[in-house]
Amino acid sequence: MKNLRFFPVIGLVLTVIFSSCTVAKTPPSVEEKARELHRTMLTVDTHCDTAMSLLRSDWKIGERHDPAQRGSGKIDLPRMKEGGLDAEFFAAFVGQGPLTPEAYAKAKDSALRAVAAVRKMTQDHASLIGLAVDPAGARRLKKEGKLTAFIGLENGYPIGRDLSLIKLFYDQGVRYITLCHSSDNDICDSATDRRNPEDKGLSEFGRRVVAECNRLGMIVDISHASEKSFYDVIAASKTPIIASHSSARAVCDNPRNLTDDQLRALARNGGVIQICFLGAYVKTSPVIPEREKALKELEAKYGPVREIRDDAVRAKAMAERDAINKQYPQVRPTVADLVDHIDHVRKVVGIDSVGIGTDFDGGGGVVGCDDVSGMIHVTEELIRRGYTDKEIAKIWGENFFRVFDKIMAVAGK
Ligand SMILES: [Zn+2]
Repeated sequence: MKNLRFFPVIGLVLTVIFSSCTVAKTPPSVEEKARELHRTMLTVDTHCDTAMSLLRSDWKIGERHDPAQRGSGKIDLPRMKEGGLDAEFFAAFVGQGPLTPEAYAKAKDSALRAVAAVRKMTQDHASLIGLAVDPAGARRLKKEGKLTAFIGLENGYPIGRDLSLIKLFYDQGVRYITLCHSSDNDICDSATDRRNPEDKGLSEFGRRVVAECNRLGMIVDISHASEKSFYDVIAASKTPIIASHSSARAVCDNPRNLTDDQLRALARNGGVIQICFLGAYVKTSPVIPEREKALKELEAKYGPVREIRDDAVRAKAMAERDAINKQYPQVRPTVADLVDHIDHVRKVVGIDSVGIGTDFDGGGGVVGCDDVSGMIHVTEELIRRGYTDKEIAKIWGENFFRVFDKIMAVAGK
């Protein structure tokens, strides 16, 4: 009976052995599962404005920038690797200007400069990233352990009234055209042109633009387009279309987001909405009047910050904007708020019509995924909400690449 007092000790030893066995059998954590998924699936973000940063002399995409530092940007190649993002659409963005031959020529030059900067970047960093012009190219690069750069054209304005320029951009590697930006142009009306609220939709010239895109295998992107433009494009296009960076209007009431009826029309068309990370499209924040006033004054002084070409002036405007943000901080949306949009699209039209289009470096970023290194956290949230591996792979790229492949097949490429 004396030995009984050793029983607790033996019990403790057995408990330790048993629990160490269970540790070995612990299923992978959500993060490990997300990492494993990102190793196998091909991931794509269909919109960023980082091409503008490539034109700066003081910023290098091959270097890792600390996200906490101002001017670090949201995307560089080391952080793409960290976040598990394989392919990025770098948009050659041109702000809307006057509808005159001189202004068209300037816009074309500006777009071609941005396109050339993306091409040069892939040559300068050829061991890390390659340029792709089709889904097969991105798949091949992933197998080689490399990242992929695609090129988009944000705003059809640089083609002016000259249809032949669509082929010129196509030949330079551009694979989508966002038909308009924040104001109306020759192609179609914008969702956000406050000076001209009447919605005329797609113009006669715009119809020919869509037909030429269909013929070439250029993806038609209706992000920024007005509702009538959207429906006109759906009716005119022989192929599925995309919204490269828009979210769901029912979740966040912003004219840049798609209504449920638009989602249903997009799904019938076989297209895809790529959910945008820009705060104002993700969640409506409570209005702080002092903040609004200060931001309005800032814009009156400099114009839109992202369109400032002079580095020193832009730095000054950004510092002033930071000061406003500090004085009147806004509650920012989170990864969970973002995934609410994915949930909504899945609920309304199913899993086959939704993807990711961050708008990083164009205003995109949410708490928990404020730069490309945080992309993995979106996947973690999807896993936590019970999305299957197959569904997650569709969101991260399969849906978009299905559309891209289809567009190329229709064009006979
Ligand atoms: Zn945009």
